Amino acid sequence: MVIFDLQCTYNHIFEGWFSSSDDLKNQLEKGMLSCPICDDKKVYKIPTASRISRRSTSGDLKEGTSKALIYKKHQEFLREVHDHIEKNYEDVGANFADRALKMHQGEIAHKGIRGSATKDEVHELNKAGIETLPMPKKPPEKNEIN
Ligand SMILES: [Zn+2]
Repeated sequence: MVIFDLQCTYNHIFEGWFSSSDDLKNQLEKGMLSCPICDDKKVYKIPTASRISRRSTSGDLKEGTSKALIYKKHQEFLREVHDHIEKNYEDVGANFADRALKMHQGEIAHKGIRGSATKDEVHELNKAGIETLPMPKKPPEKNEIN
């Protein structure tokens, strides 16, 4: 079994159990997954460090799996997540914390944004009850490796 963190378009995060990452991919492609909180059918997987390490010790990757392969899968996974975010979230750069707060306070329209924030800013956002999701950097494209 492999555990993935999934998220719906309303930012509900939940766990899904799959027999393999292909199984997850299949179910995502066929739209068989839905959010257990709001029943939204648009769910996608998100990365978390703890889940990734759990994946690496799960049965799915038990046989003939080298650290390099796990690393490669991790990179591919991250690229997919980044592609999704780039397509669906507006890049507000260093204004991230400012925009997030204004949205929270209703000063500007609510929408998905991405950008950078300092540790202090993230702390401020958390205090205001705004959830942020830290993202590792996007890995280089396949043809950029080597
Ligand atoms: Zn939901």
